[in-house]
Amino acid sequence: MTQGGLEGIPIPLEKTMSNLEMRIMADIVRAIKVNGFSTAKADHQIQRMVQLGESEINVKKWIQEALEVTDKEIESIFSDDVYEQYYGYKRVYEETDRRQIPFTENLELQALLESVRAQTKAEFRNLTNSLGFAIRAPGTGRIYNSPLMQFYRDTLDGAVLDILSGSVNYNVAIGRAINAMTNSGLRTISYDTGHSNRVEVAARRAIMTGFRQVQGKINEQVARDLGTDFYEVTYHMGARPEHQVWQGRVYSYAQLQGICGLGSVTGLHGANCYHDYSPFIPGVSVRAYTDEQLVQMMEEENIPKKYLGKEYTAYQALQQQRQMERNMRKTRQDIKLLQEGGDNDRSVVSKKARYQLQMQQYKAFSKAMKLPEQMQRVYHDGLGKVGNGSSAALKKQEKIQAVKNAEKERNENVKARFSKFSDRFQTYNNGQKDIITYRRLLNNLNKTSIGRETVEYILEHPELEIQVCYGVDHQKNTLGEQLGDLIRIYASDTKTVQRTAEVLIHEITHHKYNIGESQWAESVCKAQEIKHKTNKEKLTGIELRGIIKIVEELYPTLPWR
Ligand SMILES: [Zn+2]
Repeated sequence: MTQGGLEGIPIPLEKTMSNLEMRIMADIVRAIKVNGFSTAKADHQIQRMVQLGESEINVKKWIQEALEVTDKEIESIFSDDVYEQYYGYKRVYEETDRRQIPFTENLELQALLESVRAQTKAEFRNLTNSLGFAIRAPGTGRIYNSPLMQFYRDTLDGAVLDILSGSVNYNVAIGRAINAMTNSGLRTISYDTGHSNRVEVAARRAIMTGFRQVQGKINEQVARDLGTDFYEVTYHMGARPEHQVWQGRVYSYAQLQGICGLGSVTGLHGANCYHDYSPFIPGVSVRAYTDEQLVQMMEEENIPKKYLGKEYTAYQALQQQRQMERNMRKTRQDIKLLQEGGDNDRSVVSKKARYQLQMQQYKAFSKAMKLPEQMQRVYHDGLGKVGNGSSAALKKQEKIQAVKNAEKERNENVKARFSKFSDRFQTYNNGQKDIITYRRLLNNLNKTSIGRETVEYILEHPELEIQVCYGVDHQKNTLGEQLGDLIRIYASDTKTVQRTAEVLIHEITHHKYNIGESQWAESVCKAQEIKHKTNKEKLTGIELRGIIKIVEELYPTLPWR
């Protein structure tokens, strides 16, 4: 079965759980609304009792309804989808002149289906029995799990107390409660281990575990019927690194277990794995991909693509895309709940603008990474259209974001340039404190165009080794020297950052034009040095003649050219 087909199976169940989640969160908002607007303390006490009682009854009813829906879904998955999987092998049987036992007559399979169906339904009952939210404790910041009705009570009491005491207004209290809920998401909590999981994630896992069991059984039976012990594992784009290495190839059953980890949570057919394996007859079956193609696809996926200064492999990009989808889902829930709470003013408008922006960024990211958009993952919350932020608010958000992005990109670039720049340098220190930091040197060079040119040159020439020497013996009156790719700057003598930069420009010029050992060469290098010193792009005839004169005095023994 393909990755897309597999990913599609649990969607109806995720949808049902999303609906349940939304109903419960909206009910808490309503409870706060009713209590938050009544100002008397005594009123609140009574209201609260009534409210909590009503909510408890409602929640039980909603869970019951959700279970009825999921039971039906489970039935259809373990008949229709499995049926399809089973007869997916019809052609192989025909081609090899073998007979496939009809689905309904396959007693072994029917028995397995029966037990998996029952087991999966039971699992959903367990999930809904242990619902709650995970909240961050205000004092310690630690996350703890709160059972559903306890969460109702605490959230309601906390919000109402804040409003009654006058410490925050209604809008702030409701905003906080909504944020805590949508951040956590409705969870299923294991009170033995303290572990909790978003309910739709747990639902997906439960259904996939069952489906995988049946799928494996069918695959193995087909292999037996066809008289082979070999299987071809599917390939899908953006597989996690551990699965990437073994996907797309052919293995014996023992190798499926040994190499691909079939049967373990982290391996083939394990949690969140969208790989599958199907029987393979050596000499008859044809592989979907050759080894060379697999290696090439893997290499391509692992070349990082850049977006806003950050790099992503195909796998990392997919993870980021999922994260963006979750963020959009949260914003959509926030909007619906804020509206439920009667808040139709600024916070709803700005959330809507935020949602629009998240969507645009999602599109831009997906495009840059060449990934298909998967908005159905966002829309299956059943909340319908929630966008339509006012265009002025959206424009403002966009503008702020654009500035932030540009700044981020710039910072990343500056960081990368500095680290590359300083890579070319080494400091040799004989007891004297070094005062010329690479950071200050780079800043100084960046001030003039010849300085910036020099930096560019240094960045582009990894073979350069620039030694900044303190207290190192050298010829008198020599501030720097260039010996092939090695450049030495005598910092005890250059003393200031400015002078060090000038000498560096001088020595780099020697390297750049590969010139030296003549008065002419020294004049050229000296001229660049002076350009930086005077911050000029061009020197006058008088200045150039002055330079030649100085060079003649400094290097009387050198020939002119
Ligand atoms: Zn996998």
